Amino acid sequence: MSLTGECFCGDVTYRIDGILTDARSCHCSRCRKAFSAQASAYALVEHDEFSWTSGEQLLTAYVGEQGFGLQFCSKCGSTLCGVFDGRIHGVTLGCVNGNPEIEIGQHIFVGSKATWEILPDGITAYEEGPFPTS
Ligand SMILES: [Zn+2]
Ligand SMILES: [Zn+2]
Repeated sequence: MSLTGECFCGDVTYRIDGILTDARSCHCSRCRKAFSAQASAYALVEHDEFSWTSGEQLLTAYVGEQGFGLQFCSKCGSTLCGVFDGRIHGVTLGCVNGNPEIEIGQHIFVGSKATWEILPDGITAYEEGPFPTS
């Protein structure tokens, strides 16, 4: 499977020759800030199946605690991927083009969701987490 993704302005693009796994959404206060939204929307990717196809020089990284960082487009501000130990760890689902053939399997830390967020019915949600799916 081959997937592509890009930022809002379109200058940074990437390609994944593989599949996304473990799509999840974290509603904790830190992820809300990092994703500028009600929650994160993120899936894992094998680092050797990921490649930047344009605009890599526009990327800026913010590395937080425990060496986990996010890379974003310095022109438009889209957060494109997560990095760990200097390698691609996963991608933000919002920047993936088309249908990545994966759905968010777990909504975690909904116990600390924003007061203004109304959770949809039918989701698999955990007060905290992450916990393995059973
Ligand atoms: Zn951009
Ligand atoms: Zn979180």
